[in-house]
Amino acid sequence: MKRRNFLISSMAGAAAAALAPGTMLASCAPKKDGKKATTPLNLCFQEGIALGDTLQEKLDYCESLGVTGFEVGGRGLAGRVDELNNALKGRNIRMGAICAGFDGFILAEDEQKERFDRTMREIIEAAGKVNSCGVIMVPAFNGQSPCRPHTRETRDYLCEELHKLGEFALQNNTTVILEPLNRGECFYLRLVADAAAIARDADSKGVKCMGDFWHMQEETSDYAAFMAAGKEYLQHVHIASRGRRKTPGEDGEKDNYRDGFRALKEIGYEGFVSFECGREGDPKIILPAAVELLRKQWDEA
Ligand code: MG
Repeated sequence: MKRRNFLISSMAGAAAAALAPGTMLASCAPKKDGKKATTPLNLCFQEGIALGDTLQEKLDYCESLGVTGFEVGGRGLAGRVDELNNALKGRNIRMGAICAGFDGFILAEDEQKERFDRTMREIIEAAGKVNSCGVIMVPAFNGQSPCRPHTRETRDYLCEELHKLGEFALQNNTTVILEPLNRGECFYLRLVADAAAIARDADSKGVKCMGDFWHMQEETSDYAAFMAAGKEYLQHVHIASRGRRKTPGEDGEKDNYRDGFRALKEIGYEGFVSFECGREGDPKIILPAAVELLRKQWDEA
């Protein structure tokens, strides 16, 4: 052992020995200061996750587990505004993000762009009316064509188009949320930090980003990914088991979310962590178990 290291370890040993048994050195105590100690875990279920045959039954089920968010698809949302607002009245559940549902795509080179603009704006208007935090979108899935090439000019174009969309969303009291996917599904946008940088360069407070723990297998660090987006850009989070995209906990040891949760706590993230996943086991057992697992890991993070 080098002399300096030896001295440091000797001093630490002496200091520890001087304390009464069971006393923890201040520097070893878990950090529970500031935002980290007070940031709550806000869980959310997509409509297809919550058990029940009717909307009311699904919301009752969410309430029974203390799940306070509800995420629905964007398709047909305009026709569901009254239904959703009435169902949520008097409940401790808020609308989460609206998951896509538009036609076409923003980087299309043909008339699909016009269809995107029209249908996305309809969903944004409806999202504002149900008090949603934003509408999730992907710039282009791998299979979509004809698509603008993956060039610097396309990125500039994307930022300009997102600026217009973000300002429209703000007028409707909501946002648009860029979702990075894994490279198998969306080579164009894979990393949370890149989505946050595009949101920044779009120069509209109505453009945000999100992270999906399933797709975040592409990240080198869940913690760094969420920290890079920070509270300013991170608007939503999706969660699934990390081996097969089943319900959290169904992939055993792989389902470790603590590193990402630690970042969410440290930035004081106030949005939802929303279940977007399949399932293998009996949902009556695995859904309550997943909620319990996530709360435990949140406490440990
Ligand atoms: Mg997702």
